[in-house]
Amino acid sequence: MQDYIAKAMAFSGQVRIYAAVTTHTVDYARTIHDMNPTPSVALGRVLTGAALMSQTLKGEDHSITIQIRGDGPIGGIIAVTDAKAGVRGYVHNPNFDVPLNEMGKFDIASAVGSGYLNVIKDIGMKEPYVGYVDLVSGEIAEDLTYYYAYSEQTPTVMNLGVLIGAGGRVEAAGGYFVQLLPDAGEDVIERIEKSIGQLQPITTLIHQGKTPEDIIRLIVSEDDSVEIYDNCEVHYDCYCSRERMERNLLSLGRKDLLEIAEDEKGAELQCHFCNKKYHFTQSELLNLINVAQRD
Ligand SMILES: [Zn+2]
Repeated sequence: MQDYIAKAMAFSGQVRIYAAVTTHTVDYARTIHDMNPTPSVALGRVLTGAALMSQTLKGEDHSITIQIRGDGPIGGIIAVTDAKAGVRGYVHNPNFDVPLNEMGKFDIASAVGSGYLNVIKDIGMKEPYVGYVDLVSGEIAEDLTYYYAYSEQTPTVMNLGVLIGAGGRVEAAGGYFVQLLPDAGEDVIERIEKSIGQLQPITTLIHQGKTPEDIIRLIVSEDDSVEIYDNCEVHYDCYCSRERMERNLLSLGRKDLLEIAEDEKGAELQCHFCNKKYHFTQSELLNLINVAQRD
C-alpha cells in the first residue's frame, strides 16, 4: 500500500480527522540516514506528525517545521513538511539505542530527554509563526497534542507509531490527528474519547493491513455522518540544490568562506535531509567570495 493520508469530517462537521499510513516514507528515512531502531522510531513519529499537520496548511507554498531539542542521546530531531505531505527530516545522532521501557516499548522519552519543541509555520506572512512548548513527555505525539492545546488553543489528539521488525526495518508506521472544531458538543467529545480509548495501537492496526479510511471509521465508531472527502500521498521529498548550498556557504560570511577556500581540494557540503553531497572547487569558492563582496 502506498503511503497516504485520508481526511474526514465527522459528527456532523464538529470533528476533523486525518489518518495516515507512512510505512514506506519512514523506512526510506531510516535507510538514507542509516539509523538504529530507537532513532528510526523517534524520527518516524515526527515525520508522520509533520505529514498529518501539513493538511492544515492552506497555501501550496506553505510549510511546517518541527524542531525538538532535548538533553537525551538523540540530541535533536527536525522534520519539515510542505503542504502536500512531502516530508524530510533527520536526527542529530542516528546511531545509538537505549533499553526498552518498562512496557517493552522503544523508550523515546529517554532518547529525547527533557527540552522543548518548536513548530515553525511558514504561511506566506512576512515572518513565520513560531510556537514553542516545553516537552511534556518526549514521546512526540503527547508533545504535539500539548502544543495544539497550549500554543494554538485547539483541542487536538495526535497518535503516532512506528513498528520495527527484523533487521531494524520499519514494518508499520502511521498515526492520526483528531481536532475538535469550536462548536463541538460535550457528547461528541465523550464519544471520541471513548472510541479512541478502545482503539488498538496504531501500529497494530496498520500491521493488520488497515487503511487510513479504516482507521477513521474505527475512530468515529458508530457515527453515520462521517464523510471521508479527500486523501493526500505522503512521500519523502528533499528540496536541496546546488544553489541552496551556495546560499548556505554565503551565509557563513566572508571570513569563514575565505578560511574554507584555503583548501586547494575545495569543500564538500552534505545535505542533512537526504545526505546528497555537493562539491565546490577552490576556484568556485573564491568566485562565491567575489560575488559576495559585490553584493
Ligand atoms: Zn537534500
